[in-house]
Amino acid sequence: SIKGRYDQHFAVYDDAMREELLWEQTITNEMTTALSSEQFEVYLQPKYRLQDGVLAGAEALVRWNHPKQGFLSPTTFIPLFEKNGFITKLDQFVWDKTCAVLRQWDNKGYPPLSVSVNVSRADIYNADLTNILLKTVQKYGLGVSRLPLEITESAYTENPSQIIEAVESLKKLGFLIEMDDFGSGYSSLNMLNQLSLDILKLDMQFIRSETTKPKSQGILRHIMAIAGTMGLRVVAEGVETKEQLERLCEIGCDYGQGYYFAKPMPCEAFETLMRGPIDLI
Ligand code: C2E
Ligand code: MG
Ligand code: MG
Ligand code: MG
Repeated sequence: SIKGRYDQHFAVYDDAMREELLWEQTITNEMTTALSSEQFEVYLQPKYRLQDGVLAGAEALVRWNHPKQGFLSPTTFIPLFEKNGFITKLDQFVWDKTCAVLRQWDNKGYPPLSVSVNVSRADIYNADLTNILLKTVQKYGLGVSRLPLEITESAYTENPSQIIEAVESLKKLGFLIEMDDFGSGYSSLNMLNQLSLDILKLDMQFIRSETTKPKSQGILRHIMAIAGTMGLRVVAEGVETKEQLERLCEIGCDYGQGYYFAKPMPCEAFETLMRGPIDLI
């Protein structure tokens, strides 16, 4: 009967809900200890300049090396940390670790690398954000341009006035700002115009569908033109195939990041990559 199916549906729903809540509770109980006992690790994924294949930087991506559950993907815990506010602590940890490794590599004589870090929507509401970021780079004697900041597109539309203020004060200090996941949400061109951003990071989903169809290729070309007009450089994220790479090169995309080049890796592995010759294209 319909009623029977209805009840059954809700029983399943309840179970899933209960399990989700339980998981959230467990994670919430464990997160503070996880931070202090170094269960969180910073992975780096390289970015390449497409015109010549030169290593042009990296993105810092957090991983949770959970004692019982193994490596957890940020997509499983970041949304929860954004809800319960823990993300501000975790992000500060990631920024600090990133600067620490940059300092180490500078000391070893590597050419100065810049590593983009993710700034959560929750960080934007932290009145101390600018100060914290500035103190972090200064603690390691790094210039602010070494730590470009990635802010996801949807955060820009959630609270435009707040984000404009935050971005402006960060820009004043010289931080580079990237709009992450561009094309995934609803960022209006107006928003792009009001903000002085530095880099557009094309969303992965977008690259995936857009590079295959001729119409989509046209849209990409227009995005490149708009970026050019606004003085923005463009990074394509989620580049997985040679074909995607070739199309991105054709339309003049500046940088690429994705599994085609390399997956996110521990800092030690990244150091090896910096030492080796690069010949990817
Ligand atoms: P994001 O900032 O857009 O990062 C790009 C994501 O795409 C990363 O997933 C990366 O591993 C993945 N990726 C890169 N290239 C490819 C590819 O060629 N194919 C595919 N399928 N995936 C690719 P990850 O590391 O799982 O992170 C997911 C999201 O979690 C990030 O998306 C970001 O929004 C968030 N995140 C990760 N680390 C942090 C962090 O330290 N702080 C904050 N606030 N958010 C973070
Ligand atoms: Mg990012
Ligand atoms: Mg992204
Ligand atoms: Mg993304």
